[in-house]
Amino acid sequence: MPITVCEKHGESGCLEMCKHLYKNLEKGVFLPFYTLPVYTIRMCTKCFEKYNMQELVDTLSIDKKEVQEKKEKETGFYKIAPDYYFESAVLNEKNPKLLEKIKYTYHKINKKSRFKCQDCIDDIYFEYAKKNNLELPFEPFENTILHSDDKRIFKLENKINKYFGVKELDITKCSRTCEIWSGSIRCPLLIKIYGATTQKEQDKIVKLIDKFFKKIPQKQRKVIFYEPLTWIVEKSEKGTKRIYRDKTKILSEVVVRE
Ligand SMILES: [Zn+2]
Ligand SMILES: [Zn+2]
Repeated sequence: MPITVCEKHGESGCLEMCKHLYKNLEKGVFLPFYTLPVYTIRMCTKCFEKYNMQELVDTLSIDKKEVQEKKEKETGFYKIAPDYYFESAVLNEKNPKLLEKIKYTYHKINKKSRFKCQDCIDDIYFEYAKKNNLELPFEPFENTILHSDDKRIFKLENKINKYFGVKELDITKCSRTCEIWSGSIRCPLLIKIYGATTQKEQDKIVKLIDKFFKKIPQKQRKVIFYEPLTWIVEKSEKGTKRIYRDKTKILSEVVVRE
């Protein structure tokens, strides 16, 4: 997903859509949409019909397993390529004509497409549903820290890391740390804590966070405790190193909705 810098949300993912969806969003109207496979551009029902997408829906299937296998086989830089890279490779082997149709449709819509911050789209989606008495699309968090550069995020990060003690300089030895992600209407500020494994320690950290939020008006937050971080170091034949995190299990979570 491409990244944009939004006035309200800071650095955030943005979505590409046909000009009709965009124009309506600008007016506060959230229209139903279809997402084009592989290239993931959103299109309105008008475009869906114009580009004969029903036929595509009926014939297309991309096996997720095959995509995953391709990903695992890949070495070097392309291992971290976005999904569409692998999906189009799978589709190209199975049904190149269909891939051509997807490409063609994408380029047609892309000529006048627009991008919008995904968190702003969610804001409009929620307001639109509320105004029109539709079922709310998600549990809203209207009182949470939103901007990715909000200074309070860094302050809290420092506080928690201070609690954990001296930061390890060798990243592969860093197992206890925290990571904080700004919130949106769909998900509150997310505080991820790695390596606090006992209930006693988790309680201590929750208390520390509660104290920090006493003076902050935007109180909604989610704290997730994970097992300690572990790192995988892969060495290629050429001697280059690739370091990445292993998957980490969730131990517990606390959501503050006040
Ligand atoms: Zn359209
Ligand atoms: Zn935004």
